[in-house]
Amino acid sequence: MRYVSTRGEDRGSGFREILLGGLMADGGLAMPVAYPRLAAAELEAMRGMNYRELAFAVLRLFAGDVPEGVLRGLVEKTYTAEVYSNGRAGEDAGEITPVRTLEPGVHLLALSNGPTLAFKDMAMQLLGNLFEWALEEDGETLNILGATSGDTGSSAEYAMRGKRGIRVFMLSPYGKMSAFQTAQMFSLADENIHNLAVRGVFDDCQDVVKAVSNDLDFKREFRIGTVNSINWARVVAQVVYYFKGYFAVAPEVGAPVSFAVPSGNFGNICAGHIARMMGLPVRRLILATNENDVLDEFFRTGVYRPRGTAETRQTSSPSMDISRASNFERFVFDLMGRDAERVKGLWREVSSQGAFDLRGTAEWAGIGQYGFVSGASTHADRVATIRAAWEKYGVTVDPHTADGLKVGMELREEGVPLVCLETALPAKFEETIWEALGRAPERPAKFDGVEKLPQRSVVIDADAEFVKGYIREHVA
Ligand SMILES: *Cc1c(COP(=O)(O)O)cnc(C)c1O
Repeated sequence: MRYVSTRGEDRGSGFREILLGGLMADGGLAMPVAYPRLAAAELEAMRGMNYRELAFAVLRLFAGDVPEGVLRGLVEKTYTAEVYSNGRAGEDAGEITPVRTLEPGVHLLALSNGPTLAFKDMAMQLLGNLFEWALEEDGETLNILGATSGDTGSSAEYAMRGKRGIRVFMLSPYGKMSAFQTAQMFSLADENIHNLAVRGVFDDCQDVVKAVSNDLDFKREFRIGTVNSINWARVVAQVVYYFKGYFAVAPEVGAPVSFAVPSGNFGNICAGHIARMMGLPVRRLILATNENDVLDEFFRTGVYRPRGTAETRQTSSPSMDISRASNFERFVFDLMGRDAERVKGLWREVSSQGAFDLRGTAEWAGIGQYGFVSGASTHADRVATIRAAWEKYGVTVDPHTADGLKVGMELREEGVPLVCLETALPAKFEETIWEALGRAPERPAKFDGVEKLPQRSVVIDADAEFVKGYIREHVA
């Protein structure tokens, strides 16, 4: 598979070349030159596969330059019951992403049983193993520099801990993460993990990361990389569970199934779009936002108007508090008939006028063919949905999953099974669960008392020069 940029660059890059990179050289995002299409017989053959087999079948189509034996080995090492079972008992304990039926036609796809209890582990754990392999092959090392408000940073640290050739320097806003998230990250004792707690807010952390990355000499000398949500390998690893969810609920191969996806950076639902483009019979991709409704606004009106940080609200589904959806450009590239000049023009309009408007274009008139519908959810909706799910189904859902469930129930269609993606476990968001249910959420046994473990972090000012010095000192 060859990869091109959404802004036009085509240097014949393979999967290996884009694996460790972020943006393409022209500022665009990597996209496969064409989507592999699966015939009905191939889908039929995938039906009985377990998660590892499915992951290999999907990934090999996109990573042709990773030797098959290597890819199979990495997939088998990644998707084990041990990593993804979270101490669950019962008949589905060995399953990687089990489906739970809430009521006839409505299902929950459990994606949050990885090490940090959020769906990001589904892709990040694979990324850790892919990175370690690729770096060893090339005799290289990588220093991952990132900023996190919670989920991404912990998922990255649990994926990269103890990996040869990789160090992680993760900036987080000092005192602003939940006690659970802080403990999850700061209790890691691995030597290659560095937690830098920044006096400031998340945006200050991100500004420091940007400033360090903009120093190209430093970036090159110290081999600075990222694991943010635009990484193609992360997106493609997420395609796998749409297949898994589809086969789990479709009465027969070919029957339509819809998915409800709590969305922020558009990474998760972008994977659903790719699965659909590959020929998986997905009917609706139901995009759910919280009060930060940039994406809902686009799919309802044709206007994309990313917000500034001042306009981004802090909500009780914090991992969706996003003002500009970094993977959205991938879908727009497809929507524009893969015309990179058009895409470039649209993002120029975003820079100069703060928005683009597709109303009146042929592309907007044809958007229905992609299956997207959308809705938004508020704090009150979230709390009501958590309460209703507990009363009706005896299931505790986390606030993000609740956003998806709420919008999914509104936009589902008679006779079409709905799969709601569970993107985190409620244990991560105690406060909202208390508000909704008057009790604490269940917590997997392995996290009992995690807040009491010794913690390791360095408190610093939001100072890029200091961070460079810190990295220099710790890269022996
Ligand atoms: C990251 C995250 C999301 C948003 O996913 P995107 O891929 O950014 O759209 C939703 N829910 C949870 C719990 C998350 O951690």
